[in-house]
Amino acid sequence: MKIETVIQQANNILKKNYIKNSLLDTELLISKVINKEREYIILNNNMKIGQNDYIKFKKLILERSKGKPIAYLLGKKNFWKYDFYVNENVLIPRPDTELIVHQVLKNYKNKNNIKFLEVGVGSGAISLSILKEKNGFFGTGVDISKDCLNICKKNACKLEVNDRMKLFKSNIDNFNKGKYDLIISNPPYIKKLDLKKLSKDIRNFEPQIALDGGLDGLSEIRKVIKKSAELIKKNGKLILEIAFNQKIEVRKILENNGFYINAIVKDLAKNDRCIISKKI
Ligand code: GLN
Repeated sequence: MKIETVIQQANNILKKNYIKNSLLDTELLISKVINKEREYIILNNNMKIGQNDYIKFKKLILERSKGKPIAYLLGKKNFWKYDFYVNENVLIPRPDTELIVHQVLKNYKNKNNIKFLEVGVGSGAISLSILKEKNGFFGTGVDISKDCLNICKKNACKLEVNDRMKLFKSNIDNFNKGKYDLIISNPPYIKKLDLKKLSKDIRNFEPQIALDGGLDGLSEIRKVIKKSAELIKKNGKLILEIAFNQKIEVRKILENNGFYINAIVKDLAKNDRCIISKKI
């Protein structure tokens, strides 16, 4: 069958299932199956697709039509300047989270010898992007999920920063190794009862453990701040991603734990998203 026809059919299936960007997703999935760039597909849409590839492609389209995120189907997601391996065990890195990378680079512009810790390292998108920018930085990543650590390790090797990234499987309450100049985290911060309001792509496919912030959305943030107060060096910085409506509460928790608020930064949608504080 001609690629053009296959694309049209698949696009219609996705549209019927209310998938936004249906054509883009179709093109990305067909590119993956036949192992060619998307541009190639667009320029060669008269080409025929083989039977095996067609079967593989139909399977992917079926999964996408049920809401499985395109990043999981492709096995990768672009963040900062790199493609990161992802699977259903890790949260898909969000563009807003690049704010943490920005803030680290801004706050440590003239420093190149920093030991940092990331709590809930997931795919490693934040830490590994920082390590790529700063070759004198050393990272430590903690995650409760072994599967996340495996993906993070794979990403660290791919980006050739694995010699500067240590990983530990631990719950943050039980982690007591080292003292850090900088601690970063994008912890789960969605209120338990709001989880069901998330879009079905997120709700049904992304790891709940990476999103669920307990009844008030703050239970993991509280743990991260409390432990950071112990693990951080004096004058060290804590940079956290927060939900758009958590600024006041998080500020209070930080202050109660001996942190001074340096700045609260908004994301592209003008929502408060990132809070920068210093241990005094
Ligand atoms: N920003 C994510 C979302 O709304 C939530 C990430 C988190 O809980 N840390 O999908």
